[in-house]
Amino acid sequence: MLQRLVVDPAKIHPPTIQLTPEQQHYLTRVLRLQIGDRFIAMNGQGESWLTILDDGPTATLVHPINTQTELPIAVTLVMALPKGNGFDEVVRQATELGVSQIQPVISDRTLLNPSPQKLERWRRIAQEAAEQSERQIVPALLDPITFVDHLHQIQSSQPHRSYLCTPRRAAPALLPLLTQTWQAQPLTIAIGPEGGWTDPELDQAIAAGYALVSLGDRILRAVTAPIVALALIAASCEPEPPDESET
Ligand code: SAM
Repeated sequence: MLQRLVVDPAKIHPPTIQLTPEQQHYLTRVLRLQIGDRFIAMNGQGESWLTILDDGPTATLVHPINTQTELPIAVTLVMALPKGNGFDEVVRQATELGVSQIQPVISDRTLLNPSPQKLERWRRIAQEAAEQSERQIVPALLDPITFVDHLHQIQSSQPHRSYLCTPRRAAPALLPLLTQTWQAQPLTIAIGPEGGWTDPELDQAIAAGYALVSLGDRILRAVTAPIVALALIAASCEPEPPDESET
């Protein structure tokens, strides 16, 4: 299996790519690749190339690679930041499960307001997880915003399905909603913090177009819930359901 490496699109000048000193070190010292050895360079935006390591800080693109491992729909994970380092694993596993972008939000009961270093760390984790899971894109990790600002944004965005997970208010189960009304439309899934969403937040979310959904009768940890929700979403749309108009 060839190693994948995300390269800044600005450093890709076909047929050559410019490697950073860290990438050169990683390829030659950590992976022990020799001059002429092959790896897969990806721009993190959907394009990958079979690539050969040169003698020096460059590599040569041989040919594009056409693989498709992305979900058939764009999925945004909106997540109230959990405490401690819990978000590290959420970013890693959500990337493995195919999420397109991650929007951290500060909600009424969020305890954490992350430093710029944390954001950099999460972006690195997303990149490594995209390489490891053989994806074509690296999910965008957006700057944190308040939940209220996020609700304003989704009200003015293109029509898409938005589900907010809560174990309260007898919300209907997510899975049947996904499978009974499958649509090739972008989808947003929102997960609350350890203390859950407040009542005003649930009301504001409904007013902004979110449908409340349940992930089952047990209360999941804030870091478990996004993984369960994303696994259900992936299972419901992959492989893409047949187009009924063609049968
Ligand atoms: N006591 C909190 C409450 O009543 O919401 C529990 C919060 S739970 C630890 C953290 C987040 O995970 C919730 O805000 C929700 O988004 C999600 N979650 C956990 N279990 C869930 C379930 N069974 N159904 C839907 N969402 C769930």
